[in-house]
Amino acid sequence: MAFDITERNRAQERISYLASHDVLTELPNRTALNQHLSAALERAEVTGSGFAVLCIDLDHFKEINDLFGHAVGDAVLREASQRLQEAAQGCYVARVGGDEFIGITEQEPMSGSAELLATKMRAAFEDPIVVDGHGLKLDLCVGAALFPRDADNIVSLLANADAALYRAKHEGRGAIRLFTSAMDQQLRERRALEHDLRFAVERGELYLDYQPQQHRDGHTTGYEALVRWRHPDRGIIPPGEFIPVAERSGSIAQIDDWVLMEACREAASWDQPFRIAVNVSAAQFRRENLDAQVRRALRESGLAPVRLEVEITEGVLIEDVSRAKRTMQSLKSLGILIALDDFGTGYSSLSYVEAFPLDRIKVDRSFVASLGQSERSLAIVRAIIGLAHGLGVPVLAEGIETKDQMSLLIKEGCDELQGYLIGRPQRFAAEKARSWQNSKSLIVSAS
Ligand code: C2E
Ligand code: MG
Ligand code: MG
Repeated sequence: MAFDITERNRAQERISYLASHDVLTELPNRTALNQHLSAALERAEVTGSGFAVLCIDLDHFKEINDLFGHAVGDAVLREASQRLQEAAQGCYVARVGGDEFIGITEQEPMSGSAELLATKMRAAFEDPIVVDGHGLKLDLCVGAALFPRDADNIVSLLANADAALYRAKHEGRGAIRLFTSAMDQQLRERRALEHDLRFAVERGELYLDYQPQQHRDGHTTGYEALVRWRHPDRGIIPPGEFIPVAERSGSIAQIDDWVLMEACREAASWDQPFRIAVNVSAAQFRRENLDAQVRRALRESGLAPVRLEVEITEGVLIEDVSRAKRTMQSLKSLGILIALDDFGTGYSSLSYVEAFPLDRIKVDRSFVASLGQSERSLAIVRAIIGLAHGLGVPVLAEGIETKDQMSLLIKEGCDELQGYLIGRPQRFAAEKARSWQNSKSLIVSAS
């Protein structure tokens, strides 16, 4: 019966392997990681040494997965895992989520070796990953925390490495950050912010600023509504800071509904039929009832549908193409306009412009900012305008701050302009008052 026992042992081995490894990449999984961390902690306590935990996150992975499908996504993850493991040179690497990995190093000096490991891992992604003829460029963000310096238990250690990763991501692609006690403070602040945000709408702490949009011939065509939060203790918080928090904590739905309602109500009260542009977050776009919300805002405010433009970002189009199409069609059937915001920053391409019923493309301000300094920005802007016009879609450039940028954009055929040069975002009442004082102001000149 020796055969049976061997078979059984093999099966047993296989089962314990599967239980402790990720099926797709064959890296250790979270269960194995927990065991490894407990052992490392025990070792460090006995010997008086330490270890570093690295939270590793692949930039761009989600976009690749959405754009090229899950088969390509899986192949990318397998290749990425292999590169991480090779770069680790014997240090421990586990996969703990979709595109999230944990690395552990026990080499002294701890902070130096954590940074070195992170740098090596990043370097392993310098060459694109080639799958099915696509050359896919990935990068990593890494956050690290040290035992015992940053935490005395595994739960806090992981939370602190995650806080460092959050910081790294905030700083942009390919950043590496070590945990600092200031980050702990930031983590606590983020939680407090999440908490306060839940009541911001009902306490009336949100308000809208309006930024003018101008036709190339100089007349005002509309205003973009930009939300701000007047926090009772912290003062005014910009949307870039609280919208992502609201998206993660779920309070975004309430905020977006409020913005839509308020912007329509305000625009309906204007004595000129300017267009009103409202940003719709990806989370709101994905909800089933966006068209119902829009219909309600139009009905209650009495605003003519052609005056309302919703701004969406490329991200919502690639996540679920057929669903995005349905949502956009139902919005279009209400008679409103749709603009594609921040164009050029995502992974997508102008093929989306063709596939979706867009009324405007907004060139991201990062290209406008580097116009005149970078040939590449000019080439991109030129390509966007050329292709959009080929499809009959007008182009608006955002973030115009200088006259040079404006004249260059007009020369390139850009249809509409927005930016500090034309007007800063501000309360509408203030804008109106200013226009009465100065009859040559932007609003009056539109009539
Ligand atoms: P966005 O929709 O691309 O808005 C343009 C941002 O650029 C605004 O920042 C505006 O103040 C800023 N900006 C305008 N002109 C210039 C310029 O000449 N130079 C520079 N450097 N910046 C300029 P803001 O108001 O901080 O909004 C940031 C982002 O937050 C918006 O980007 C939008 O994605 C989001 N957001 C704003 N309001 C809302 C909202 O009501 N709902 C949702 N879901 N998102 C919003
Ligand atoms: Mg916008
Ligand atoms: Mg934008």
